[in-house]
Amino acid sequence: MTMSGTDRAGRIAALGYDYAAQPKAEVRACNLCGAARFVVLTHRDRYGYPAEAHACAGCGLVFLNPQMTAEAYGRFYDGIYRPLVSAFHGRLIDAQTIQAEQREYAAERAAFIAPFVAGSGARTLLDIGGSTGVVAHHVARQFGLQGTLIDPAPLEVEEARRLGLETVTGLVEHHDFGARRFDLVIICQTVDHLLDVGGVLSRVRSLLSDRGLLFIDIVDFRAAYLRNWSVEDAVKIDHPYYLTQETMTAYLRRTGFEALRTDFAADHLHVSYICRPSTAERDTMPAAGHAQALLDEIRYVQNAPRK
Ligand SMILES: [Zn+2]
Repeated sequence: MTMSGTDRAGRIAALGYDYAAQPKAEVRACNLCGAARFVVLTHRDRYGYPAEAHACAGCGLVFLNPQMTAEAYGRFYDGIYRPLVSAFHGRLIDAQTIQAEQREYAAERAAFIAPFVAGSGARTLLDIGGSTGVVAHHVARQFGLQGTLIDPAPLEVEEARRLGLETVTGLVEHHDFGARRFDLVIICQTVDHLLDVGGVLSRVRSLLSDRGLLFIDIVDFRAAYLRNWSVEDAVKIDHPYYLTQETMTAYLRRTGFEALRTDFAADHLHVSYICRPSTAERDTMPAAGHAQALLDEIRYVQNAPRK
């Protein structure tokens, strides 16, 4: 092991987080297609925690199995997540330091959605999993929207409140918005962290006004493992889900959205979508063969000689 690798393992061990002891639930049906036939891809994540990533043999959706319960993830985000990511990267990453990165991200994503939002008459914004509010604040100001943010992390929501956003501490699955509808919903660098992607997208569909728009982006799982030529290094306990362009597109179509434009981010890792509600047939699955092509590629990456 390299010196930096040793340092990293030591920093992570010093956190004393016992992932194996956390309460978890077995995933028995694929969240995207409902199938129950899985392939176990990996047995540890990038931090070294014993987490298994499974792929659905039917549609190619990749997810942790078992997954920590919502309560266990709540404790994880309340005290472990940012220190763990800091230990992994060897520098401090917290609710303050992430804001510069979020400002740059906000400007890029606002430029991507501008052709669809500017001049559309949109008045309200909901940011799901909006963290410190930097992105919601930027988007609301640029397009003249009234901004609302919902996030489960109290310290980050406090930062968002200071930016003048309406804030809700909690999860969109549980919060009752009553009859409120939103003209723009954004889910930024968040979908991979959800416990029920299909449930949240269906909920978002019902929260959108008739001409509402959804912005969402994924860490492209294929880009993540091809980048470091390691499937284990692309898996981390903070992400219950690992989406590809095929599985994300299938999720959108199954929950009543159609993508108007897709964007490969400048970092070559994220893929973004701006979507509108669709009335088209919803029982769409990823193109036949996606699951097998993904499994074949993963097997190749796992066994090809390293540089
Ligand atoms: Zn599936």
